[in-house]
Amino acid sequence: MESFKLSSNENPYPPLPQVREVIANAGALINRYPDPSSSALLEAIAKYHSVPVEHVAVGTGAVALCYQVAHSTAGPGDEVLFAWRSFEAYPIVSRVAGATPVTVELTADGQHDLPEMARAITPRTRLIFVCSPNNPTGTTVSAQQFADFMTWVPDDVLVVLDEAYAEFDVDADSVNGIQAYARYGNVAVLRTFSKAYGLAGLRVGYAIAHEPVVEALRKTALPFGVSNIAQAAAAASLADDAELLERVAALVAERARITTALRANGWDVAESQANFLWLATRDRTEQFALACEAAGLTVRAFPGEGVRVTIGETAANDRFVEVAAAFRS
Ligand code: PMP
Repeated sequence: MESFKLSSNENPYPPLPQVREVIANAGALINRYPDPSSSALLEAIAKYHSVPVEHVAVGTGAVALCYQVAHSTAGPGDEVLFAWRSFEAYPIVSRVAGATPVTVELTADGQHDLPEMARAITPRTRLIFVCSPNNPTGTTVSAQQFADFMTWVPDDVLVVLDEAYAEFDVDADSVNGIQAYARYGNVAVLRTFSKAYGLAGLRVGYAIAHEPVVEALRKTALPFGVSNIAQAAAAASLADDAELLERVAALVAERARITTALRANGWDVAESQANFLWLATRDRTEQFALACEAAGLTVRAFPGEGVRVTIGETAANDRFVEVAAAFRS
């Protein structure tokens, strides 16, 4: 039986042939250090989003940018605020920076509780992560909710809007990170080539933010971190993204199909705008993950809370629906 990994929110599609060719060509140059400033990639990202190149920073995955932003904004005695449950790196990067993570529970339907987060801001708060779509629940923050929240955030507190899954979000009401950054001097957006662009193994992500933030990200970056292969593949993917975005649309369609099938079997599935679904299996989480494992499916279990399952190959998704249906019967 073929097994499938549905635990890391990866893109199931293999790299496009033209991107593989770029990777092969870049591979011929790996006796040399990469361009330390990733200038061609910065230009490509700036052009793609119509922002000044001075407002773009790249890193070895969006997760590296989370580390860098935590290091450059927070230290001992400072607080880093975020919703929970959310991306697992937030508490880690906060502690590595020496700061104190402060969490605000998601609402019962897996959404950020932004009014409660606003109340949790203290004079020690230096950094706030807002994850939309949220990992692992797939819920989004609306533009209105974000605007209301920003009225409570002091100007000297940085809000990082983590949009690692933005390309999968089809909800017109969701906050748009690029618009939010344009409006607020203290908002930074994180994006990645790991998910929609299918380059998880190459480790490249980016931030769009105002100059002081970008400068801090450049200063805290690992020198030569983003390889020439990653720089070339990411730029090529942006230049030629129609086919990649078709694949994203196919995954979005799969997400709707699986959500409908699970609901038809009695599962209470939140509406996800990411490339994964969240099932609140609570005290049956480990049991459910074991049932998936027995069927050759690796999912991400959060014991006592729920299971996150990535939208993968059609065969994997079909098998997941079968396992989930059998588990309820
Ligand atoms: N943000 C969120 C919300 C994520 O889920 C992830 C990956 N799981 C990342 C950032 C980091 O992605 P990468 O480092 O691969 O760019």
